[in-house]
Amino acid sequence: MAEESRISRARQWINSPAGRWTAIGAAAVLLATAAWIFVGDGGDQRAKDIVQKGHTVYYYCKACKATGKTAKPYDQPFPIVCPKCGAPQAVEAFRCRRCKRIIENIKGVQVFHCPHPDCRFKYSRRVIGD
Ligand SMILES: [Zn+2]
Ligand SMILES: [Zn+2]
Repeated sequence: MAEESRISRARQWINSPAGRWTAIGAAAVLLATAAWIFVGDGGDQRAKDIVQKGHTVYYYCKACKATGKTAKPYDQPFPIVCPKCGAPQAVEAFRCRRCKRIIENIKGVQVFHCPHPDCRFKYSRRVIGD
């Protein structure tokens, strides 16, 4: 039958060196595509996780005066919920350049000082850059 001879010809071709390399190449392309899709999905999921988990920020709680680092989602503005006392009064903070303690990033003023009396390092909005 014609159908059978076509299959046997295909089988011969697969068993020939050229056919085998073509088959291996096709398999490799398929595998690479599958791997690319898989990694692509993983990358998307990772990106979503990063957005959800947010980034690590320094905070200063106006309610309990706690300071520290916490994860804040990118789309959530300050003030955030204080990880220590739960009050939604944790504002943006940063590490003081002189005393290395975490201090409130006072917005809307041109010049402010580190609140620690033994430090009082002077900051200007221009230096901080926001
Ligand atoms: Zn607090
Ligand atoms: Zn300081």
